[in-house]
Amino acid sequence: TAGRTPLMAGNWKMNLDHLQATHLVQKLDWTLRDGRHDYAAVEVVVIPPFTDLRSVQTLIDGDRLQLRHGAQDLSAHDTGAYTGEVSGAFLAKLGCGYVVVGHSERREYHAETDEVVNAKVKAALRHGLVPIFCVGEGLEVRQAGEHVQHVLAQVEAGLAGVTAEQAATLVVAYEPVWAIGTGEVATPEDAQEVCAAIRTKLAELYSGSLADTVRVLYGGSVKAANVAAIMEQEDVDGALVGGASIVPEEFSSICRYR
Ligand code: PEP
Repeated sequence: TAGRTPLMAGNWKMNLDHLQATHLVQKLDWTLRDGRHDYAAVEVVVIPPFTDLRSVQTLIDGDRLQLRHGAQDLSAHDTGAYTGEVSGAFLAKLGCGYVVVGHSERREYHAETDEVVNAKVKAALRHGLVPIFCVGEGLEVRQAGEHVQHVLAQVEAGLAGVTAEQAATLVVAYEPVWAIGTGEVATPEDAQEVCAAIRTKLAELYSGSLADTVRVLYGGSVKAANVAAIMEQEDVDGALVGGASIVPEEFSSICRYR
């Protein structure tokens, strides 16, 4: 992770009620503070459902917590007749620094194509949000040995028309679909192979110096017990964590992996 600040991002998905959500933020902050967590050394981001964002923002601002927060998705559009959608402008007003884009669950259950993901990456950047841009192959692609080319095609399509200046703030998350929510974590070597290939692709698309600064995360069944080995890999700069991120002790252990 040479020179890159590791990032641990907790994607809560569609879990917890509102009281549990605010409690989780407080408990996580207490647990990390108790362990004297150095937020400058490992950045921590919570990613609750939209409906919790205002309360999470109030907690973070009011108590000057060092946690940061983001959203799980955004609209490709800025404003207008898009019933049910949430624009990047709204998320920016709610203090979000980050937004997940192209999560495999959005691609699979909400028919998000690479084109839609690309439009959402650009929408996030227009509103000053850092996209946590997710890519990853399904099991069949992995078994066919085509995972690297599949992921690199997603990277290229998702970043079409994104300038070097915009891409400098980007976070990419490699999340093999077969490892998400399954308990089946990729080996550290598997994670490294694809994260390194993503960095090489960023160097090709932009420049080596830009590729050196972009954080590439691994996601898929990350837990306190397996995070250290994954974080030892040179091109893995953090984790996007689902299930383990709604258990405060577990997620804080992940954040304090070293
Ligand atoms: C995710 O949803 O981004 C994820 C990695 O989930 P889990 O950690 O539960 O596999």
